[in-house]
Amino acid sequence: MIQLVRGFKDILPPETTVWQSIEDTARRHFENFGFREIRPPVLEQAALFQRSIGEHTDIVEKEMYTFAGSRDTLLTLRPEATASVVRAYIQHKIYAADPAARFYTIGPMFRKERPQKGRYRQFYQINAEVFGVDSPYMDAQLIYMCMTFFRRLSVSGLQVHLNSLGCPECRPAFRQKLSEMLAGRAENLCPDCLRRLEKNPLRVLDCKVPACREAVADAPSMLDFLCDDCGQHFRTVQAALADMDIDFQIDPRLVRGLDYYTRTAFEIQTSELGAQNAVAGGGRYDQLVEMLGGPAQPAIGFAIGLDRLVELFAAKFPAPETGPDVFFLPMGEAARERAAKWSSQLADAGVRVEADFSGRSLKALMRRADRMGAARVLIVGDQELAENKAVLRDMKTRDQVAVPMDRLVAFISEHVGR
Ligand code: AMP
Repeated sequence: MIQLVRGFKDILPPETTVWQSIEDTARRHFENFGFREIRPPVLEQAALFQRSIGEHTDIVEKEMYTFAGSRDTLLTLRPEATASVVRAYIQHKIYAADPAARFYTIGPMFRKERPQKGRYRQFYQINAEVFGVDSPYMDAQLIYMCMTFFRRLSVSGLQVHLNSLGCPECRPAFRQKLSEMLAGRAENLCPDCLRRLEKNPLRVLDCKVPACREAVADAPSMLDFLCDDCGQHFRTVQAALADMDIDFQIDPRLVRGLDYYTRTAFEIQTSELGAQNAVAGGGRYDQLVEMLGGPAQPAIGFAIGLDRLVELFAAKFPAPETGPDVFFLPMGEAARERAAKWSSQLADAGVRVEADFSGRSLKALMRRADRMGAARVLIVGDQELAENKAVLRDMKTRDQVAVPMDRLVAFISEHVGR
């Protein structure tokens, strides 16, 4: 038997209902904040991610699903959505039509990471991105939108971790200082961090290996290197968050795994998921639009890990088994023929119905009705056909009513309609 590919998963009902309700809530919530849905493809040119995420990040170095396309181009299954949204923003000149465009997108991402709990090779994200706005109030509002989304879902116990990564003006001095310090402790670093030391020393700050954590325990903080503008921006973000009653923690170790971030970086963490504790992450990427060939436009966004959010949500609100409003139990060929037509018409009229055409015994079908959580069953047999009446039974109260067959569809729609 051919099995699932390792690191991938099927999402089965009834869990799919949890996904649907979270996605519906996200759509409604984000649209209230002026965001509109954009749906870029899952396949892009590899160069898009190499240039945006950065050559020396884990994602680009070892986690991308990349393969040959036609005419020498390399194609990649997107490991994240921001680069694609930026590409679409530039390609369709959205900046010319809307000076403050806000988008959200929901869909699968692909990273060849080591599979473990909370970490999959195909996982889902809800992304929000804002273009053209450099105001720190936008940063605060975006974090507010994210946290109130979790609140709407009654997911609690989340902390906002906040940092500033500075800008091309002030970050190089910090990077230099950090590199010098780390070079002196190279023998304590893990092999990955030894590589990062040269190409991407900031990433050493969020390495999870205990020896590396120790090595950076007294590392300099980017916050001490912020230029005046970045410092002012960061202070305003904090004041605005406080004003909106959003608690946050300053975390100078927070650097995020992608190179394109500038200024505000944040992560939303929980203590309820074990090692994979980040439910959402994001930040500003004020240089990225220009870097990818567009006009200079500031931008900010975040990604929520939908798989992890579903896990948190489902732990509190297990997916209900939602059976049909009416389950038809036709006994005999003539009854099945009637049931086929009536159940189709009822479904079309907006009633959740299912008819069982298997020809199994009444007892077997009643068991199935129970298992699927049907609210009512409609029993139609030869006798009912002869008397022109079917029996509609409420599965909870066990009340029964006789339904006149010539008015069956209208009768049930009236009594059961949502
Ligand atoms: P990132 O795009 O790496 O900033 O990640 C944003 C969010 O996506 C994280 O906070 C996680 O919740 C989620 N995420 C990232 N990688 C994975 C993965 N391999 N499996 C499941 N969720 C992930």
